[in-house]
Amino acid sequence: MDKTAPPSPASYGRAHRALEIASIAFVFGSLLWIAVRMVAATHTVGGWIAIALAAVGGYIVSDFLSGFVHWAGDTVGDETTPIFGPNFVRPFRFHHVDPEDITRHDFVETNGNNCIVATPVLLTLLVIMPKETGLLFYTSALIAFTAFFVFCTNQFHKWAHTKTPAPWVRLLQRAGLILSPEHHVVHHTSPRDKYYCITVGWMNPVLDKIHFFRFCEAVITRVSPRALRPDPADRPPQNEADAAIAMPS
Ligand SMILES: [Zn+2]
Ligand SMILES: [Zn+2]
Repeated sequence: MDKTAPPSPASYGRAHRALEIASIAFVFGSLLWIAVRMVAATHTVGGWIAIALAAVGGYIVSDFLSGFVHWAGDTVGDETTPIFGPNFVRPFRFHHVDPEDITRHDFVETNGNNCIVATPVLLTLLVIMPKETGLLFYTSALIAFTAFFVFCTNQFHKWAHTKTPAPWVRLLQRAGLILSPEHHVVHHTSPRDKYYCITVGWMNPVLDKIHFFRFCEAVITRVSPRALRPDPADRPPQNEADAAIAMPS
């Protein structure tokens, strides 16, 4: 392994695992509570259409957020950057060194960190979500769906790297309803500077078309030129496409 490659983010203590388990339990419990409230408050077809739109909107927002955070982890700062370095730079860059490492994580390690991030958001929703439908109700629904799909993101990303996913997972991947290996391999192919979104990938062609991440990099270069690591030589080594993702049949 290249000496510039970040070490495995395996410093995984029992206290952090306990926090992950507690966060997963809280996320499941609070999403269930929010779902019950949605069902109890929605009595019209229009209301259910609004809920469905909130679900699709939450999926798109989550896809965008996954891309933005992933881009930042791959591109901005280094492992010594306070808070951001150990939590985002190291895991995202290590993922390019050993793309299959994610497939060796169990359910808690795969999904725990995203649940920790979602916890304060859901905690807020438990307080502010009204019992009756209205703007705040549907906004809360949109945020709840976003939190749910943020929770799903690492799982979908893991499945995109899994050699033999369950048939129903493969079906969802082929239908383009969750991140597919065929789509995600674009990100793992040199120069690895696009297709950062890893929930479903719907936002990837859009963000690529409008040069969104090049714009972000231009802004950062202007504000703090040394914060950016756009030079491929500065990035950790990457197994090339066919080695990075084994395509399931
Ligand atoms: Zn990446
Ligand atoms: Zn990946």
